[in-house]
Amino acid sequence: PLPFSYTALSPEISETTLHFHHDKHLQAYVDNLNKALTDCPELQRLSLEELLQTLDQIPEPKRTAIRNNGGGVYNHYLYFDCMGGKGGHPCGPLAQAMDRAFGSYEEWKLRMKEAAMGQFGSGYAWLVCGNGGGLSVVKTPNQDCPITQGQWPLLCIDVWEHAYYLDYQNRRADYVDAWFDLIK
Ligand code: MN
Repeated sequence: PLPFSYTALSPEISETTLHFHHDKHLQAYVDNLNKALTDCPELQRLSLEELLQTLDQIPEPKRTAIRNNGGGVYNHYLYFDCMGGKGGHPCGPLAQAMDRAFGSYEEWKLRMKEAAMGQFGSGYAWLVCGNGGGLSVVKTPNQDCPITQGQWPLLCIDVWEHAYYLDYQNRRADYVDAWFDLIK
């Protein structure tokens, strides 16, 4: 289930967008991942994280289906889980880590927006934690997930057009600005 009501993000993200995005787009990734795993009992024992971390060991042609649909499920879970709040400055260890990595919360927002705007076509911008505990901002195309590159995703913004087109049409920048006020 969506972790908040379908009207919780209005007016920044409409009820209609959430119904299509969560009930149709995410559901398709769930269905297609399950289909890809149907005849793979050994892969069914792995967690979603483990599947994405060991993509290079999964034989083709399963690898592409799991990369796209496993990523599609993981990335959307995180995207929806990160919203439903009112944005604003983080506190505690996260705030300190962001200050260390980016200088300030405002500087992080600039870097995150740059990544979200700089992703050509469909994909995501991410706040990730590396193995050493340091934070960085990265972008990925399609449904690729930073977890495959050994990074731990903390926050992501979906910049596929299905995430914003009904509300913002081609104005991705306005959607990104609005998203900062919805994260928790
Ligand atoms: Mn999406």
